[in-house]
Amino acid sequence: MNKTQLGKMRMRFLQISTLITAGALALTPGNLRGQSASFGPANPFYAASTLPFQAPPFDRIKDADYQPAIEAGIAQKIDEVHASADNQAEPTFENTLVAMEQSGRLIDRVMNVFNGVSGADMNPVLEKVQETEAPKLAAMQDAIYLNAKLFQRVSKIYEQRNSLHLDAESLRLVEYQYQQFLLAGARLSDSDKVKLKKLNEEEANLSTAFTLKLLAATKEAVYVTQDKAALTGLSDEQLAAAAQAARDRKVKGWALPLQNTTQQPELQSLTNRATRQALFEASWNRTERGGKNDTRDTIARLAELRAQKAKLLGYPNYAAWKLVDQMAKTPTAALKFMDALAPAASAKAQGEAKDIQALIDAQKGGFALEPWDWNFYSEQVRKAKYDLDESQIKPYFELNNVLENGVFYSAHELYGITFKRRTDLPVYNPDVQVYEVSDADGKPLALWYCDYFKRDNKNGGAWMDSFVGQSKLRGTLPVIYNVANFAKPAASEPALISFDDVTTMFHEFGHALHGIFANTMYPSLSGTNVPRDFVEFPSQFNEHWASNPSVFGHYARHYKTGAPMPSELAAKIKKAATFNQGYMLTELLAAAELDMQWNTLAPDAPRQNPDAFEAAALQKTHLSLSTVPPRYRSSYFLHIWGNGYAAGYYAYLWCEMLDNDAFQWFEDHGGLTRANGDRFRQMVLSRGNTEDLDKLYATWRGAEPGIQPMLKARGLEPEAASK
Ligand SMILES: [Zn+2]
Repeated sequence: MNKTQLGKMRMRFLQISTLITAGALALTPGNLRGQSASFGPANPFYAASTLPFQAPPFDRIKDADYQPAIEAGIAQKIDEVHASADNQAEPTFENTLVAMEQSGRLIDRVMNVFNGVSGADMNPVLEKVQETEAPKLAAMQDAIYLNAKLFQRVSKIYEQRNSLHLDAESLRLVEYQYQQFLLAGARLSDSDKVKLKKLNEEEANLSTAFTLKLLAATKEAVYVTQDKAALTGLSDEQLAAAAQAARDRKVKGWALPLQNTTQQPELQSLTNRATRQALFEASWNRTERGGKNDTRDTIARLAELRAQKAKLLGYPNYAAWKLVDQMAKTPTAALKFMDALAPAASAKAQGEAKDIQALIDAQKGGFALEPWDWNFYSEQVRKAKYDLDESQIKPYFELNNVLENGVFYSAHELYGITFKRRTDLPVYNPDVQVYEVSDADGKPLALWYCDYFKRDNKNGGAWMDSFVGQSKLRGTLPVIYNVANFAKPAASEPALISFDDVTTMFHEFGHALHGIFANTMYPSLSGTNVPRDFVEFPSQFNEHWASNPSVFGHYARHYKTGAPMPSELAAKIKKAATFNQGYMLTELLAAAELDMQWNTLAPDAPRQNPDAFEAAALQKTHLSLSTVPPRYRSSYFLHIWGNGYAAGYYAYLWCEMLDNDAFQWFEDHGGLTRANGDRFRQMVLSRGNTEDLDKLYATWRGAEPGIQPMLKARGLEPEAASK
């Protein structure tokens, strides 16, 4: 869930945005300094934490501590950058690029914690801090990458780079930072820089406005009923959770809160078609109901503004600018990749729709399949064809057992690392657990936090990030966290999760391993600070171990009896992995295409009507299936409007090519072994962005990545053609 350092910071500063009118802020260091009078040694961010691994002192951090620390941190960073830019000495690698890597410790310290807590445990005070600090953080970023004197120094080093006798990682840092300056617009004229600053501020403001509207709209669109019959089909656990959700909201009856995706999990079980339609429509229309939480004007302006920004920076569209430092390099390459997948995906989805319609007709339903029916009937098709029932499966996936005997176990077998629960370290919410990670030789490696259960004040989905990033230069070891939105069981009940949730745990832990194994000098190149179309590779790769027989057999055990999952049931899960893949790949591709279409808008295009634009974009890319809506509708697509994934949603699929190709290598070399794991850790997972990633991958793999293993895994390739 990260990308390059600048991208990561850009993403974060977009999250931290504001509703305040942009442009009111004069961008001088003096103004940026703000009121830091209340910042002193009593503030828990004042100095590096004295806890093990510099873990955040959550027991001492109060909501009121963030703002003064952020303001002081911005001021400190600006001062450091100015000192470096104004240095009278000749520019050297040490006094310029290393100085940049050393700068901003305070702002990093506080923002890493603020981002973590505001994403997972938001409250009105933190919302206010976000609003107030966003433009200052965006301006700080500009003050670095648009500083002409600093750019001159970096340029000079860049020109001399091959005669400076730098080690490979240092050389990579020079090239990387030079590119980041170019991407930020360092070569623009002074008047164009002013224009760019204005556009950046407006983009940040709109992005935050979008995020806050979406959060409120999703909360408001909760489906509530006082009629228990409307919920027929839900399990006792689901009903209990719905009753609890209603109590939490102080409403009568039952409440079904919305997940961030178009489809909702309850649609699989609700037998009442009217309820299904109502729940689906609550989701589909959440941000298109008119009123203050409607996001359509916001995204239309965002798309227009991004195209204008790209033009100013010298690119034909926003995506072209965003992809320059990615593995794909151009929107054309990404579109070509997706276009190659679309026919197979939609043909498969149409076949699946036919099967479902046949089932509806056989039951004398008397209606045509609609998107709110898909999961309800596909679950029946699955039961008929694969006889797989979630309620049969879940008792074998108790959360803590999956964690310790699945997620941790596979990491131990591959990399030799061990995990110890730490109950002595403070957390920001009682649901959070902390583990210390040690290397095979017992040396301390990292801290890892997990925060798995859904809360109303948590962003949707699942993600990984760091409270402390690894850097040999700064002498820091990684402090990593995983967040998810699993249904919280009633008190004293075990958390029995779906195989999807199991896969999510492995996925986010794959990101965590990328952070935990980071072993680089410079923070900008460390761990998950890699391009978006590479960052999902380690996480999606790690998912493969969830269904690997030797790992699966170790954790898939009944929560009451400890008995292993019967082998027929396990075989069905494996077989079911290719079930409904037409739908799943099509809804993903549709979302990825929407992203790329919005972000390849020409700078001279008029402001778009989002609904019309969306319909046309899906038509154009042959993904307009009435029964398969995009995984995210444009108006609630948080990734691309609020979370820095603009022109980057394709990256999940791109990385899927990499992860399947990589897993094929493991299978060809004996699977789950320390030798394979250590080699992968050394050549890939520990390397961050210290080498060109094309080259890094091909060196480890011994070949360029191919698309065949991905098609095979999805069941989109004829058996005969697979090797
Ligand atoms: Zn991920």
